[in-house]
Amino acid sequence: MQNNGLKRTIIKSPDLWLSDGNIIVRALTGKSEILYRVHKSVLSMHSNFFEATFGEQGSDSALDTGSDHFEGVPILDMPGDDANDIRQFLMALYIPQFSPKHREIGWDDSQFDFPGQYAGTLRLSTKYIVPDLRKMIVQKFHARWPCLLEQWDLEEGDLASLQEANTDSWPSKFDIYPDPARTIRLAVDHDIPEVLPVAFYDLARLFEHYDSTGTARSADLGLLTADDLRRLARGRGALRREFASMIENPFRCSVPPNCAREVEVADLEEDPWAWACKAGLLRWWKSAFVDRFFDASADPVAWLAQAIKDSDMLFVEVCPECGVYMKDLICRRREQLWLDLPTFFDVTVSPEWGLDNHPYY
Ligand SMILES: [Zn+2]
Repeated sequence: MQNNGLKRTIIKSPDLWLSDGNIIVRALTGKSEILYRVHKSVLSMHSNFFEATFGEQGSDSALDTGSDHFEGVPILDMPGDDANDIRQFLMALYIPQFSPKHREIGWDDSQFDFPGQYAGTLRLSTKYIVPDLRKMIVQKFHARWPCLLEQWDLEEGDLASLQEANTDSWPSKFDIYPDPARTIRLAVDHDIPEVLPVAFYDLARLFEHYDSTGTARSADLGLLTADDLRRLARGRGALRREFASMIENPFRCSVPPNCAREVEVADLEEDPWAWACKAGLLRWWKSAFVDRFFDASADPVAWLAQAIKDSDMLFVEVCPECGVYMKDLICRRREQLWLDLPTFFDVTVSPEWGLDNHPYY
């Protein structure tokens, strides 16, 4: 094939050149044409698009008679598709271990390129309607950006352990985290809206975490559109506003606890809604949140999780009923904040988002 007068070099794919293949998929780069010798039956089995293209098995389709041939085998061009995407897509169809590798990460692996390593497969499995392959990749996105808070906590715990275990300089300990900006780009382009609220949350908090050497995670913001950036700015603002309001009014819309201690009359004169442990609870709340608002608001979901653990210290100062009450209150506030993420970041999601009955659980 000519390229503005220059002849491209023909390369038989070292990965997929199957001697009994009856179709050659041709991928074009600037200087070369890469040929994959594969099977019509395998492509047709996965995709109605290819089935229609090849026609009935055994019959001479227009492709067999009308297209270019190489070594007697018809060639299928995929115009407009990137050569890397085609390779990724065909490898994923033929070699099962090619795709799932990122789930078995160790501390010496980088996940920064996830989900970029699935971009080509996702793009072409969507374009050529290969539902099983697309679903497999969408599940990988859901695994890292789950809409269930418990699942997010597990993922975050795993990544934190890996980060701690990595004392080497390479890969950077931040590289184990995938790039949320690339996730957002792919999820918007390929209709995976359910992962967006969490990917946006991750991106919103990303630039607030620095380690002792002053390094931080990075994200390829150049991939984002003006609308993505609008959602990011809007969501970050809404999240902060809601979190600040939660901190200002810890007992908002909450029935007071069944405090086991007797309230002082003097306290009641000052605050008719007082109960015996209220002042102790407010002191703890101030030290956990109000005095540390800057750190807390950088990643409120994580901060609230830590506060739930730290609330055990409360039991020294307040009665058991009030300690349980406060712990439960923080859990509920945290869950609500999580469930509000789609609203903050202006993403339309299914009614099951954040719930156990979501189709991905
Ligand atoms: Zn009490």
